[in-house]
Amino acid sequence: MSDTHSLDTLVQALRRLPGVGVRSAQRMAFHLLQHDREGAQLLARSLQDAVSQVRHCALCHTFTEGEVCATCQDPRRDASKLAVVETPADQAALERTGAFKGRYFVLMGKLSPLDGVGPRDIGMHKLIERASDGTVQEVILATNFTAEGETTAHVIAQALKNRGLTVTRLARGVPAGSELEYVDLGTIAHALVDRR
Ligand SMILES: [Zn+2]
Repeated sequence: MSDTHSLDTLVQALRRLPGVGVRSAQRMAFHLLQHDREGAQLLARSLQDAVSQVRHCALCHTFTEGEVCATCQDPRRDASKLAVVETPADQAALERTGAFKGRYFVLMGKLSPLDGVGPRDIGMHKLIERASDGTVQEVILATNFTAEGETTAHVIAQALKNRGLTVTRLARGVPAGSELEYVDLGTIAHALVDRR
């Protein structure tokens, strides 16, 4: 065993982060150990806490520390409308428009066969169950207007329509190839109103 075993392990661990190669991982590790040990402790503790506390909402699949998230628990929200988004950031983008008062289902990703992400990984079975609860009248597909987002919307639409559910898609006007998170509020609000 080398005398920098812990350091090597740390570098390997950092490399698990998306987009982090060996050089960036080394830079981060050196930085923390050389300049910011307090930050390193904080990082270690918050990771530990988050991993043990955060789980998926039983209803909408988003991250939460309880059994059901605050949005799903809010009685003022319209339970007849269910918007399907890719990420919590996309959900936040819709929320900022103030134009949607329904509930959400958060896929926590998108279908991506090439990366091995299939229906099960985006909680498809859970979404179908959720949308078939008898209260939901309309499912609004608000996945991103990227190739993968469109494919995801298409697959979900088929699955839900086969079960006799009403499915709409955010209107075009959100530029093709774009992620909701980066689209201005007015455009998203229009896309919501003009959904079909
Ligand atoms: Zn929820």
